[in-house]
Amino acid sequence: MEDCIFCKIIKREIPANIVYENENVIAFEDIEPQAPVHIVIVPIQHYENIMTVPAGSDVMRSIQIAVNKLAIKYKLAEKGFRLVNNCGADGGQTVNHLHFHLLGARPFGWPPG
Ligand code: 5GP
Ligand code: ZN
Repeated sequence: MEDCIFCKIIKREIPANIVYENENVIAFEDIEPQAPVHIVIVPIQHYENIMTVPAGSDVMRSIQIAVNKLAIKYKLAEKGFRLVNNCGADGGQTVNHLHFHLLGARPFGWPPG
C-alpha cells in the first residue's frame, strides 16, 4: 500500500511517536491530538476498514490487547476512556488503513457530532 500514511509509519519511512507494539499491531501518538491522551492503534497488515478484517482474527485480538495495555500505561482504566473507529465517509474516516483512536484524560460527550 504505497500511498498509505500508516503503512509508511509502520515501515519507519515517516516518523511517529510509537508507544506500543506487538506482533500484529503498532500504536502511536496522533499528530492532531483531540484529548490529552490520543493514541492511534493500527494493525501492521493493511486492512481498509473494520469491514475487511476477519472477525475474531489474531489482528482483532491484538487490537484488544493493545487497548488494554495502553489504558493501563496511560492510567485510563479507572476513570475510563473513549475508543473510536471511524469507518468510511459517513464515519469520518480520513486514513483508509483500519485504526482505533484511544482517547482519554478528559470527559467526552454523547451523542457524537
Ligand atoms: P480518521 O479520521 O481516519 O479516523 O483518523 C486518522 C487520524 O490519523 C487523525 O486523527 C489524524 O490526526 C491522524 N494522522 C493523520 N496523518 C498522521 C501522521 O502522519 N502521523 C500521525 N501520528 N497521525 C496522523
Ligand atoms: Zn496502510
